[in-house]
Amino acid sequence: MAQKSYYSHNLKKHININEIGDKQDYLNKNYPFKNVPKLTDKVFCLHCDTWITVGDFKVTIIGDEEYIICPNYPKCDGGVMDWMYEDYEGNINVNGELINVSKDGN
Ligand SMILES: [Zn+2]
Repeated sequence: MAQKSYYSHNLKKHININEIGDKQDYLNKNYPFKNVPKLTDKVFCLHCDTWITVGDFKVTIIGDEEYIICPNYPKCDGGVMDWMYEDYEGNINVNGELINVSKDGN
């Protein structure tokens, strides 16, 4: 079975984010995992090692598929799989390993 790639460098088309009217509604319909984040959520992008605000996401089209990608595109081509939430102690869980990433020490 073909697996979706979130890391393709062959980005065909980029959607102007202004064309997406209700970004929360877009996430609700297109977010590939169960727990849809809020636009105000802060997540850590493992791809560019940066805290991002979910509502700043961008969207790109590869073939017929739309992909939610990092706000730092094209500098970063990370996708939602790279977005990590911190736990109550300020750690993110990367493959079972807890890493403390300070929001202040950028
Ligand atoms: Zn990123």
